[in-house]
Amino acid sequence: MADIIQLLPDHVANQIAAGEVVQRPASVVKELLENAIDADATIIKLIIKDAGKTLVQVIDNGKGMSPTDARLSFERHATSKIKTAEDLFDLHTKGFRGEALASIAAIAHVELKTKQAQEDVGTCIIIEGSNIVSQDVVVTPKGTSISVKNLFFNIPARRNFLKSNAVELRHVIDEFHRVALAHPNISFVMYNNGSETFNLPVSNYRQRIVNIFGNKTNEKLVPVTEETEVLTISGFVGKPEFAKKTRGEQYFFVNNRFIKSAYLNHAVTSAFDGLLKQGTHASYFLNLEVNPQTIDINIHPTKTEIKFDDEHTLYALLRSAVKHSLGQFNIAPVLDFERDPNLDTPYNYSQKETNTPVIEVDRSFNPFKESYSSGKQTTAFKKQTLNNWNSLYVGLESKGTKTQQDFSEVHFESEDKSTSLFDDEQEPVQTTYQLHNKYIVSTIKSGMLVIDQHRAHQRILYEDFLENLTVKGASSQQLLFPHQLHFSPREIDIIKELKEDLEHTGFIFSNVTKEAVEITGVPVSIPESEVTIILEQLISDVENEVPDSNFSITDLLAKSLAKSLAIKTGQSLKSSEQEHLVNSLFACKEPNVSPTNRTTFVTMSVDELDKKFI
Ligand code: ADP
Ligand code: MG
Repeated sequence: MADIIQLLPDHVANQIAAGEVVQRPASVVKELLENAIDADATIIKLIIKDAGKTLVQVIDNGKGMSPTDARLSFERHATSKIKTAEDLFDLHTKGFRGEALASIAAIAHVELKTKQAQEDVGTCIIIEGSNIVSQDVVVTPKGTSISVKNLFFNIPARRNFLKSNAVELRHVIDEFHRVALAHPNISFVMYNNGSETFNLPVSNYRQRIVNIFGNKTNEKLVPVTEETEVLTISGFVGKPEFAKKTRGEQYFFVNNRFIKSAYLNHAVTSAFDGLLKQGTHASYFLNLEVNPQTIDINIHPTKTEIKFDDEHTLYALLRSAVKHSLGQFNIAPVLDFERDPNLDTPYNYSQKETNTPVIEVDRSFNPFKESYSSGKQTTAFKKQTLNNWNSLYVGLESKGTKTQQDFSEVHFESEDKSTSLFDDEQEPVQTTYQLHNKYIVSTIKSGMLVIDQHRAHQRILYEDFLENLTVKGASSQQLLFPHQLHFSPREIDIIKELKEDLEHTGFIFSNVTKEAVEITGVPVSIPESEVTIILEQLISDVENEVPDSNFSITDLLAKSLAKSLAIKTGQSLKSSEQEHLVNSLFACKEPNVSPTNRTTFVTMSVDELDKKFI
């Protein structure tokens, strides 16, 4: 039989390689920006159209390329950055694989203009899907301009796979931030669809952070510095009181390269131990300088993980440096060995308003009057506690009208009044029990029901918000004084996107500027004090959402609000509240799962239990 193996033609091989390097417009942005930095540029411009789907262009004033190099730069494994395998272990540049330009040229329309300082004229190369269309002499300024148009024009499947412009743009901006934060000594400008979105002059690190994330960031930053033989740390951590619900502003750079490291993240987080409110994340912008020979970046073209020779030492140093800074700036609690910790107010309580105890006297109380039944007392008590749990019952009033047909297999024992052995004068039978302030256990005809209180309440609130958002239009509570909330420009963009939907839930915005929003009304269900946290959570949810085809902003909003407002694990509930939660859950359209598709309850039948006792 004839031989069947053959070498793939270059353009096919390049297309395959491109799949690894270029996943989305943001990958192109990263590669081009890094090339400009490697070329020692001091001014870099990024121009984006349609979130990079139509155009990604990077213009730099770096060292440029000779005509031959310009041509060679599009060959696979063509690089000026390493020569031998040993060089891989002592990298001082961002690039070294020599495959970015070849990959990009395989899947887009690319135009390169480049000129070296000492030359009068430069080179222009047009290359489309790996085919050189032309190579000419041009007049062009010193440096390089590469425009990448119509990404994935020849791979429709990949193009269709791209997300909405809003999502792709977010990825682009993420890459831009990462590169710009690592190089405050380089000036960056970014244009999106013709308008300038970032203009970052050469500055120190603090100013660079402020220029990107907004003026309000300045007061939040605490400097961190540490110099040892193996590691130099510089940068900032955010003060704990400004910690956000989003993980967004967490940056590690190792030798000016953005990296992700769960391990180092843990080191920083643990330095914040006891200082952060539950569910919030510290922000940090930390640069680690290590000997390039002690790290290995050669894992994968698009991976942001790197390997360290001695991770444990880095962990310890980083943790202590951050701890030290927090302590120095009087942020960490002062250690006082004389103090009796038992007398300390727990964190949650120290934040609470004090309540003056009130004594209520029931003047009509007559212990000898028979009709004063214990049942009456219970209802009065119930009512009072209910008021404290307003948030638990947000908008549930209308739920009574819903049928419970959707959940025919579960029958509550409490509804089975006829089987009761006792008369009405008896205390109502408790049908629910809270386990570890987390689960609600209830009996059903066939056996037992265990409900996750947090997820269940999310489901209840979610359906209610959805209804408000799509049908009714919610009522809002006017604030006595307008509430000014500060956000970064990027967060403001997201709020603008959501503004109309937020208004449907009851938010009233009186003014939206580049860095702040003014709110004059909030949904009735949201306590005024929680507005910031809720909006931050929402922004982070939008940022992290990877929308699919049936993505809907209304849905996301309802999910996010439900998540923020739902009672948490750890909250203890009165039995009346437990019952209400159970009943409201089974009045929902889809009681079985939380809005994020997690199981809300499990059942165990008596049969199953019986089997366990064999
Ligand atoms: P790598 O960066 O891994 O070397 P690339 O495909 O990104 O691979 O680039 C190939 C080569 O083209 C680089 O090694 C560099 O010599 C040259 N090059 C790319 N972009 C620029 C630029 N903006 N300015 C000068 N030279 C560049
Ligand atoms: Mg490169």
